[in-house]
Amino acid sequence: MTTFNITMPSGATWTPTFVQTLNEEKCIGCGRCFKVCPRGVLELVGLNADGEYVHVDEDDDDDDGEYDKKVMKIAHQELCIGCTACAKICPKKCYTHAPAQV
Ligand code: SF4
Ligand code: SF4
Repeated sequence: MTTFNITMPSGATWTPTFVQTLNEEKCIGCGRCFKVCPRGVLELVGLNADGEYVHVDEDDDDDDGEYDKKVMKIAHQELCIGCTACAKICPKKCYTHAPAQV
Protein backbone atom coordinates (compact mmCIF):
# COMPACT_ATOMS: atom_id res chain seq x y z
CA MET A 1 0.00 0.00 0.00
CA THR A 2 1.15 3.49 -0.82
CA THR A 3 -0.29 6.99 -0.64
CA PHE A 4 -2.41 8.10 -3.60
CA ASN A 5 -0.65 11.03 -5.32
CA ILE A 6 -1.35 13.18 -8.37
CA THR A 7 1.24 14.59 -10.76
CA MET A 8 0.32 18.17 -11.59
CA PRO A 9 0.84 19.73 -15.07
CA SER A 10 3.88 21.48 -13.61
CA GLY A 11 5.38 18.12 -12.72
CA ALA A 12 4.92 18.70 -9.00
CA THR A 13 3.34 15.98 -6.88
CA TRP A 14 0.16 16.68 -4.92
CA THR A 15 -1.30 14.38 -2.28
CA PRO A 16 -5.08 14.90 -1.94
CA THR A 17 -6.50 14.40 1.54
CA PHE A 18 -10.02 12.97 1.66
CA VAL A 19 -12.73 13.70 4.22
CA GLN A 20 -12.67 11.22 7.13
CA THR A 21 -14.72 12.51 10.06
CA LEU A 22 -17.03 15.37 11.03
CA ASN A 23 -17.35 16.24 14.72
CA GLU A 24 -21.11 16.54 15.35
CA GLU A 25 -20.49 17.85 18.88
CA LYS A 26 -18.76 20.94 17.51
CA CYS A 27 -20.91 21.39 14.37
CA ILE A 28 -23.36 24.31 14.50
CA GLY A 29 -25.16 23.39 11.28
CA CYS A 30 -24.24 26.64 9.55
CA GLY A 31 -24.17 25.00 6.11
CA ARG A 32 -20.98 26.72 4.89
CA CYS A 33 -19.27 23.43 4.04
CA PHE A 34 -22.32 22.22 2.10
CA LYS A 35 -22.19 25.31 -0.11
CA VAL A 36 -18.53 24.90 -1.04
CA CYS A 37 -18.44 21.12 -1.56
CA PRO A 38 -18.36 20.54 -5.34
CA ARG A 39 -19.20 16.84 -5.12
CA GLY A 40 -22.43 16.37 -3.16
CA VAL A 41 -20.65 14.59 -0.31
CA LEU A 42 -22.47 16.40 2.50
CA GLU A 43 -26.05 16.54 3.77
CA LEU A 44 -27.65 18.75 6.43
CA VAL A 45 -29.67 16.59 8.85
CA GLY A 46 -31.41 16.90 12.20
CA LEU A 47 -30.06 15.13 15.29
CA ASN A 48 -32.68 14.04 17.85
CA ALA A 49 -32.30 13.30 21.57
CA ASP A 50 -31.50 9.64 20.82
CA GLY A 51 -28.63 10.59 18.53
CA GLU A 52 -30.60 9.56 15.44
CA TYR A 53 -30.55 11.42 12.14
CA VAL A 54 -33.81 13.07 11.06
CA HIS A 55 -34.52 14.37 7.58
CA VAL A 56 -34.56 18.18 7.41
CA ASP A 57 -37.07 19.78 5.10
CA GLU A 58 -35.66 23.24 4.35
CA ASP A 59 -39.09 24.40 3.14
CA ASP A 60 -40.92 23.33 6.31
CA ASP A 61 -40.73 25.81 9.21
CA ASP A 62 -42.71 23.45 11.48
CA ASP A 63 -40.26 20.55 11.86
CA ASP A 64 -38.21 22.06 14.72
CA GLY A 65 -39.75 19.69 17.29
CA GLU A 66 -38.47 16.58 15.53
CA TYR A 67 -34.78 17.15 16.35
CA ASP A 68 -32.56 18.95 18.87
CA LYS A 69 -30.19 20.58 16.39
CA LYS A 70 -29.06 20.55 12.79
CA VAL A 71 -25.68 19.05 11.92
CA MET A 72 -23.79 18.30 8.75
CA LYS A 73 -23.34 14.63 7.87
CA ILE A 74 -20.85 12.93 5.54
CA ALA A 75 -23.48 11.27 3.37
CA HIS A 76 -21.39 10.18 0.36
CA GLN A 77 -17.76 9.86 1.43
CA GLU A 78 -16.99 7.88 -1.72
CA LEU A 79 -17.57 10.99 -3.87
CA CYS A 80 -14.95 13.14 -2.11
CA ILE A 81 -12.11 14.40 -4.34
CA GLY A 82 -9.93 15.59 -1.47
CA CYS A 83 -10.08 19.34 -2.12
CA THR A 84 -10.42 20.18 1.64
CA ALA A 85 -12.65 23.20 0.90
CA CYS A 86 -15.05 22.02 3.62
CA ALA A 87 -12.33 22.08 6.28
CA LYS A 88 -11.02 25.47 5.19
CA ILE A 89 -14.42 27.17 5.44
CA CYS A 90 -15.62 25.47 8.64
CA PRO A 91 -15.58 27.96 11.54
CA LYS A 92 -15.59 25.18 14.18
CA LYS A 93 -12.80 22.97 12.79
CA CYS A 94 -15.09 19.96 12.62
CA TYR A 95 -13.32 18.01 9.88
CA THR A 96 -10.46 15.57 9.61
CA HIS A 97 -8.92 14.57 6.27
CA ALA A 98 -6.34 11.96 5.31
CA PRO A 99 -4.56 10.70 2.18
CA ALA A 100 -5.96 7.62 0.48
CA GLN A 101 -4.00 4.35 0.49
CA VAL A 102 -3.87 2.46 -2.79
S1 SF4 B 1 -12.81 17.61 0.67
FE1 SF4 B 1 -13.89 18.73 -1.03
S2 SF4 B 1 -15.05 17.11 -2.11
FE2 SF4 B 1 -14.44 16.27 -0.10
S3 SF4 B 1 -16.19 16.67 1.27
FE3 SF4 B 1 -14.77 18.40 1.50
S4 SF4 B 1 -15.46 19.97 0.02
FE4 SF4 B 1 -16.44 18.00 -0.55
S1 SF4 C 1 -19.03 24.48 8.21
FE1 SF4 C 1 -18.51 23.30 10.07
S2 SF4 C 1 -19.93 24.06 11.63
FE2 SF4 C 1 -20.77 24.69 9.64
S3 SF4 C 1 -22.18 22.99 9.05
FE3 SF4 C 1 -20.17 22.53 8.14
S4 SF4 C 1 -19.17 21.18 9.66
FE4 SF4 C 1 -20.87 22.22 10.72
